[in-house]
Amino acid sequence: MKNHLPQPVLKLIDELRKLPGVGEKTATRYVLNLMNRSPDGVRNLEAALSSMAEGVKACDECGFVAQGDLCDFCGDPSRDRSTICVAENVADVLAIEKVGDYRGLYHVLGGVISVLRGVTPEGLRIKDLAARVADGGVREVILATGASAEGETTALYIRKLLEGSGVKVSRPATGIPMGSSIEYLDAVTLMRALRGRKEL
Ligand SMILES: [Zn+2]
Repeated sequence: MKNHLPQPVLKLIDELRKLPGVGEKTATRYVLNLMNRSPDGVRNLEAALSSMAEGVKACDECGFVAQGDLCDFCGDPSRDRSTICVAENVADVLAIEKVGDYRGLYHVLGGVISVLRGVTPEGLRIKDLAARVADGGVREVILATGASAEGETTALYIRKLLEGSGVKVSRPATGIPMGSSIEYLDAVTLMRALRGRKEL
C-alpha cells in the first residue's frame, strides 16, 4: 500500500514514525487525516512546528524546556530556590509537577550514566548541577533518577560529587518499585516517594 502513495506523503509518514509509539499504521492514519484538513489547518500545524523549532530550547539554568533563557520554574520567584530536584528528563519533571506537591527548582540531566549505551557523566548536565550548588543558596538536592540500576549509579555518582559541598543530598525512597522510571509512576506513589525521601 505504502508504495502507491506519492513521495511527499511517504516522507511525512517516515518522519512521524520516528516518534515513540507511532508505527507505520498510525503514522499513515495521521497523514491521511492531515490531507483531509483545510489548507489553513495544515498551515497552523506547520507554524506550530516551526515556532517550536525556532523559539524553544533548553533552559540555561536547569535544562527544562524554555522559551527564552530561563524556563517557567527558574523564572518564577515564588519557587523555593534552596531545593533542587534532579530528574532524568523533561517527562519526569512533568510527572513530578502533576503531583503538585513540590515547590522547588529542577535540574534535568538529559539521561542517566550508562556503560551499555556509552553515556558518561560528561554527556549529562552533571557539571552544571555542581556549578549551581557551588553558586550557593542550595540546601537540598533530591536525586529523583529512576529506580533502575543506571538511575542508582547516577544518583550515587552525583552524591559523591557533591560530598563536602554542605548540601543535603536525598533520594525518594518509599514505594518506588525497582526498575521503574519516574515518568510512569502514579501521582500518589510519586508524592509518597518525594515526601518520604531519605538522605543518601
Ligand atoms: Zn530552568
